[in-house]
Amino acid sequence: MPRIILSDLDCINHYNQIINLIEKSDSDFFTLKKLRGAMGYCMWENGISLDYRKELVPTLIHECVHYLNPDWSESQVLYTEKRIINTITPPQVIKLLKIFIMLLE
Ligand SMILES: [Zn+2]
Repeated sequence: MPRIILSDLDCINHYNQIINLIEKSDSDFFTLKKLRGAMGYCMWENGISLDYRKELVPTLIHECVHYLNPDWSESQVLYTEKRIINTITPPQVIKLLKIFIMLLE
């Protein structure tokens, strides 16, 4: 599958989709746990699990990209994760963390 190249605007659109996903999710959609052999899992109908011992922000973005784009290859998701994390600003990271923590509390 040829890689879809993302502009900075595409990256911000993906970031906004992730924000919307977290805002509309039930509190049990995300689970923080110790995982074996993975930093995170996206199980679609069963939500997303994240290993809190690993890089939480890139992994949160990665698993949300999987969830929002279920037909994408791992390499497309990985590329999109890297592009998003390198495009968003520190205040956008803070916003992401804030709504994520508000959901988990
Ligand atoms: Zn993945």
